[in-house]
Amino acid sequence: MTDFNAVAGKTSLLGLSKDEIFSLIDGEKKFVASNIYSFLMEGKDFSEMTSVRKDLREKLSETYYSNPVKILEKFTGKSGTVKYLFRLPDDNLIEGVYMPHNYGNTLCLSTQIGCRMGCKFCASGLDGLVRNLTPGEMLGQVIAVNRDNGGSVKDRAVTNLVLMGSGEPFDNYDNVLRFLDRVSEEGGINISERNISVSTSGLVNKIKDFADSGHKVILSISFHAPFNELRSSLMPVNNAYPIEKLMEAARYYYSATGRRVIFEYTLIKNENDSDACAEEIAKLTKGFPSHVNLIRLNEVKEHNHKAPTENATEEFLAKLTKLGVSATIRKSLGNDIEGACGQLRRRYLSDKR
Ligand code: SAH
Ligand code: SF4
Repeated sequence: MTDFNAVAGKTSLLGLSKDEIFSLIDGEKKFVASNIYSFLMEGKDFSEMTSVRKDLREKLSETYYSNPVKILEKFTGKSGTVKYLFRLPDDNLIEGVYMPHNYGNTLCLSTQIGCRMGCKFCASGLDGLVRNLTPGEMLGQVIAVNRDNGGSVKDRAVTNLVLMGSGEPFDNYDNVLRFLDRVSEEGGINISERNISVSTSGLVNKIKDFADSGHKVILSISFHAPFNELRSSLMPVNNAYPIEKLMEAARYYYSATGRRVIFEYTLIKNENDSDACAEEIAKLTKGFPSHVNLIRLNEVKEHNHKAPTENATEEFLAKLTKLGVSATIRKSLGNDIEGACGQLRRRYLSDKR
């Protein structure tokens, strides 16, 4: 059987289901397996599981990682936002952002190292795809940040998740689904799917599969332009899946799950902020329960796109609202720390080169 959690010669115990962990520790008393599972969910290393026999812990650590994700550095920004740089067992780096809110605390996590979608404004895609993350490495980010912020399984610090760090979740579809199963497992960290958002650049066939999968998370679609020519120039994925197909898939998602779709719209100065764009967005979303999230571009120095002013962003919002579109401006994730996801990792790598 393929080991979906294998990295650098070992595998993540954390990426296995409760039943799999139980059958693996077969021969031990049930409470031993149960304790190990709880310790894993709390983010404990094997060496910290002192109520478990030492020889068993040593044996497990020969084959398994307790948590394959280690916090390498963290940067605290305004209003409590923390940006994390994580190290993986093969020394690859990924990042995540923890954002405390009054309704709960959100972790933005990564699904791949790099990304192969090549969007023209994004830092994550600059070096292409390095590799997919395993389910254990996705869950590991949640567990590490929950522990780092004083959370436990009973009293979680991380209550909401957005899969909006580096990577295209639907380009790592099977592992993302395995991760969703793990993270909402009863007795585990157990984050409800209603508190999880998955963001995609628009892989239409996967949006449809996901709608049929039985998962009921919030679907965000990175839209960014309502005209095919413009969208294709910003997002190469639009050549394969143009706007008509994307909107059809979004409507399908709504009809299959009953959940309104969120359209992410990163505003780029003099490119996608025209009146014509606002009017076309209104046309496309008419009569369809959805919401538009406007984000001011985080300028990436390797790309030649500019952010509009805050005033221009407000004006675009006012236009959409007047046209009857449900829309709000989203403060970009940790932009006082180091821009959009992908930029921190790149800066770290170039400092060390
Ligand atoms: N790959 C997925 C999820 C990760 S990107 C996707 O594209 O949806 C998360 C969000 O950040 C996406 O909406 C993406 O378009 C946006 N984004 C990427 N680079 C950005 C930048 N420089 N400024 C603002 N938003 C950006
Ligand atoms: Fe990949 Fe999303 Fe960045 Fe596009 S915006 S390159 S899909 S991470």
